[in-house]
Amino acid sequence: MQKLFSVPDTDGYYGEYGGAYIPEMLFQNVEQLKEQYLDIMSDDSFKNEFNALLKDYVGRPTPLFHAKRLSEKYNTTLLLKREDLCHTGAHKINNTVGQVLLAQRLGKKRIIAETGAGQHGVATATVCALKGLECIVYMGEKDMQRQQPNVARMQMLGAKVIPATSGSKTLKDATNEAIRDWINNPIDTHYIIGSVVGPHPYPDMVARFQSIISQEIIAQLSSEYGVKSPTRVMACVGGGSNAAGAFYHFLDQPNVEIVAVEAAGHGVHSGMSAATTQLGVTGILHGSKSIVMQTSDGQVVEPHSISAGLDYPGIGPMHAHLFSSGRGVFMSATDEEAMKAAFEVSQLEGIIPALETAHAFAVLNNMKFGKEDLTVICLSGRGDKDLSTYMSELKLKQS
Ligand SMILES: *Cc1c(COP(=O)(O)O)cnc(C)c1O
Repeated sequence: MQKLFSVPDTDGYYGEYGGAYIPEMLFQNVEQLKEQYLDIMSDDSFKNEFNALLKDYVGRPTPLFHAKRLSEKYNTTLLLKREDLCHTGAHKINNTVGQVLLAQRLGKKRIIAETGAGQHGVATATVCALKGLECIVYMGEKDMQRQQPNVARMQMLGAKVIPATSGSKTLKDATNEAIRDWINNPIDTHYIIGSVVGPHPYPDMVARFQSIISQEIIAQLSSEYGVKSPTRVMACVGGGSNAAGAFYHFLDQPNVEIVAVEAAGHGVHSGMSAATTQLGVTGILHGSKSIVMQTSDGQVVEPHSISAGLDYPGIGPMHAHLFSSGRGVFMSATDEEAMKAAFEVSQLEGIIPALETAHAFAVLNNMKFGKEDLTVICLSGRGDKDLSTYMSELKLKQS
């Protein structure tokens, strides 16, 4: 009986999506988490430690920046929520700080994680170093090549990076390896999932940790603009954690428009895409029922996106529900459009965004804005990790 868009029912369902579809070997682990996460998160000592680390370690609150030149171009007001200014360069660390503190309270000594672009791996390695915990990160072999700076950062932080060599050698395959590790080490290990995916309670837990993003947006809109809510909030969606965080406190306010942007790769119908809601059907992936890109006999389709963080054939169950209920507007941007948007944001605002983030900006051209609208865009991360991809585009332009 779930009526809110922001929280699932007690079994972890958002509408028809969610739940916990797990092998029996993981049952105890997931059950322990499910029984304890809300109690731990509402405990005062947990909240104090979490908030103190968000402030002094992560550097929150992150600014809500009025992008004047970009606003002028689209004849409206665009406000950028600067998650790129978080320690380690993306929103991912909000969740890893929370989950590491939670893992400690569950008595876990060993942390595993999957990573796509490497931002979640770096954030996990960072907080594990801070807390003196062993850290193992699974990463697709292809992603290790296209995100080399992040591989080096994880290694410098003392984490072990293990390549996933199956399938498309990207995020889906890294997730499979992490789940396999967890099954083999169910007692001492906590698996830090990096997005609002996986079996219940992960999607809800990660959304709650990331909800600090919209909590701050509300306070900033009130003090800086004298309003309670924006016209719309926009974010890119891989699994959907930065979007969940940016949307969270607005989901149950029907007057706020929710815009999610997926990666269309070479084009939605090109066969090289990661636009899950456009191509997927109801299915089960990595422990939850959601919308999944799969063949008619249930084989997961290999996705494609130029951005490693969006190169995933699924989407979190909250977003599947936002899509199928019509609460959210779902759009997509191709590799080429994202690349163009990355250069536009860099040269109009002096902010080099992550390739993932650039997808959220790439659809501005296709939207209609009112002059008086206030649009918040979640600037999920910075683009340092993508410089080699950006450089090859520069060379192409020059030749
Ligand atoms: C990981 C990542 C994403 C995609 O993950 P979500 O869970 O959908 O937020 C988007 N932007 C950046 C910068 C990332 O690192």
